Amino acid sequence: MSSKLTVGIDLGGTQVRAALVDNGRILARESKPTNANDGPEGVLKQFWMLMDEVCSGHRKAAIAGIGICAPGPLDSTTGEIIEIPTLPRWEGFRLRDAVRDKFDLPVVVENDGIAAAYGEWRFGSGRGHDHMVYATVSTGLGGGVVVDGRLMHGRRGMGGHVGHFRMAEDGPRCSCGAIGCFEAFASGTALGNRAQAKAQEHPLGYLGRVTGDVAARHVVEGARSGDEVCRALIDEEAEYLGIGFTGLIHLFSPDLVVMGGGVSQGFELMSERIRAVIDRNAMGPFKSVPVVPAGLGDSSGLLGIAALAQCRDD
Ligand SMILES: [Zn+2]
Repeated sequence: MSSKLTVGIDLGGTQVRAALVDNGRILARESKPTNANDGPEGVLKQFWMLMDEVCSGHRKAAIAGIGICAPGPLDSTTGEIIEIPTLPRWEGFRLRDAVRDKFDLPVVVENDGIAAAYGEWRFGSGRGHDHMVYATVSTGLGGGVVVDGRLMHGRRGMGGHVGHFRMAEDGPRCSCGAIGCFEAFASGTALGNRAQAKAQEHPLGYLGRVTGDVAARHVVEGARSGDEVCRALIDEEAEYLGIGFTGLIHLFSPDLVVMGGGVSQGFELMSERIRAVIDRNAMGPFKSVPVVPAGLGDSSGLLGIAALAQCRDD
C-alpha cells in the first residue's frame, strides 16, 4: 500500500498554516504570520520552514503529495496565482511549479474556499450529502460548491466565488472593486465597518468602549452580553446572509448550506433570522434547505487541501 500522508498548506492574508495529515486526521500542525511584504519568495521560505516542522520525524518517501490553498482568483488547472488582493506581487506567480521544483512531489493548488468546501464535505458538516454549498464569512466571503456528488471547479477552477454576485444597485464597495456584492454587505469586514460607525454613534455602549479597531468578533461578544446595538447589527448581518444564501440555494439546489469563517462564531445568534429570511424569500420547495455551521472550525481548508493532494496527481 502506498502512503496516505499528505501536507496541506493554507496561505491566508494574515497566517500561513501547514499540517501533516493522514486521511482526514491532523498529525502535526504549525502556523506563522504571513510574510506579506517580501512577495512569493518570502512566503515560500515560510512554506519550507513549516514543512520541515510538520514533517519532522517522517521520511520524505512517506509523503504522497502537497496541497496548497490560497485566496484567489487562482487557476487550479495550471497552479498559477492570478491575483491575491491581500498579498502584493503574487500576480501570475506559478505556485505549483515552484513547490514541485523544490520537493519533486505531486502538488495541487486550489482556491481556499473550494478547499474548505471539500474539507467540510469529506469530514465535516457536509458528510454524506451529494449537494452542498459552503460559504466562509470572514475577512472576505468565499466558498465552494458540491453538485451531484462532485466538487465543482468551473473554468480554470474558479467556480464558487459565491461572494461576488451583486445584491443591490447601490451599496458598499467590494474588495473586488465592484459595488454591492454579497461580500461587500455580509463579510466580517463589512460587519466590522458597520460596527465601527455604531461605536462612534454610541461611545458609551459596548462597541464604544472597545479599545482599538472594532471588528466583527466584538459585535458577536456584545450581542452575547445583551448589548442592543450589537444585537441589531447581528440581525442586520443575518438578514444579508439570509438574502445571499437564498440566492445560492436557488442556484445550486443544495441539500444544505454550510457556513464557516470567523463570523460563524456567532452562528447561534444569527441562525433564526437567517432561517426566517430564507422562509420569506425562497420558492416553496427551497424553503426547507437547512443552514448549518461548519464542523471543522478553522481546519476545513487544511483538511480539504490535504485530501485533495491525495486524490489528484499532476
Ligand atoms: Zn465583489
